[in-house]
Amino acid sequence: MQCTLCNEHIDDIEFELDDAFEVEGEYWHAECYAEYFGEVLEAV
Ligand SMILES: [Zn+2]
Repeated sequence: MQCTLCNEHIDDIEFELDDAFEVEGEYWHAECYAEYFGEVLEAV
């Protein structure tokens, strides 16, 4: 998967560690999501 913001590869392990998320079919690093939206996405 690729991060929507930085376009870097996201490993499966990052999803498992909650360092990355899928949101409505897009993939985000937690850091990139927080930077873009100005909020932290909590693990479901
Ligand atoms: Zn990213």
